[in-house]
Amino acid sequence: MNLLAVFAHPDDESFSCGGSLAKAAAEGHNVHLICATRGEEGEIIHPDIDPEPYPKGDARGVLRTAELETTCKALGIHPPIFLDHHDSGFPIEVGLNNPRAFMNQDLIALERQLLPLIADLKPDVMISFDPHGGYPHIDHITIHRAAIAAFWSAGSVMQPAPKRLYFPARSLQVLREMKARSTSTTMANVDPELYGVSDDSFAAIIDVSSFAEQKRSAIMAHRSQFGEASKIQAMLDSRPDMLKQEIFTLGGLRGSFPEMPVSDLFAGL
Ligand SMILES: [Zn+2]
Repeated sequence: MNLLAVFAHPDDESFSCGGSLAKAAAEGHNVHLICATRGEEGEIIHPDIDPEPYPKGDARGVLRTAELETTCKALGIHPPIFLDHHDSGFPIEVGLNNPRAFMNQDLIALERQLLPLIADLKPDVMISFDPHGGYPHIDHITIHRAAIAAFWSAGSVMQPAPKRLYFPARSLQVLREMKARSTSTTMANVDPELYGVSDDSFAAIIDVSSFAEQKRSAIMAHRSQFGEASKIQAMLDSRPDMLKQEIFTLGGLRGSFPEMPVSDLFAGL
């Protein structure tokens, strides 16, 4: 079967569902990843990378394109497909006046950009961000809106259309604990009661423990974003659940669905 993940930036895929992408590929499914931007506004954290040769903008996008290609190899999935929009940056003020910024693109045009790719790749299952975008980044919310629109319009403009759309999710309890421990400015804007998901909303709980090393390698490949290996390892050590299981809610469905939660994204298909 075919699985298509649709995200906004290089690195969005790895934390949210890297283990599930690797698992699906290992089980013989065709796994593709669409990335709306090349992460041109991402911060460079890794001290081994001189920030000078990679100013924000297209040069940084080249660096992060290479990182995502390495990630896809680590996960065993097809090379990334880029929509070639410009990263809006964070916070939202960065992209407000940039006409190339992803956040400023017409949503119907984005939907129309996804539809031929869906027609070509024929995904049985799609994955994209939930309505809150995982954390408050406008590009995440923008790709969510485009992906969910394309999931539904695919049913009228093509057959077969995708059967399921999943959103990576974090449980209310996990987010409350993360928030209590975190000092990051990003987490400061994450309200667990809004961004967390109740247990009875889980549509899929995927055991990714056999794919922990691949997920770890995928995250490590985004070295410009997450710092040196020891820093990434410390972060992973603080969230051991991240390499064990991935949780999804259901964002769209055609046909039936087994009793929730399933342990396989393709269960019943
Ligand atoms: Zn992102």
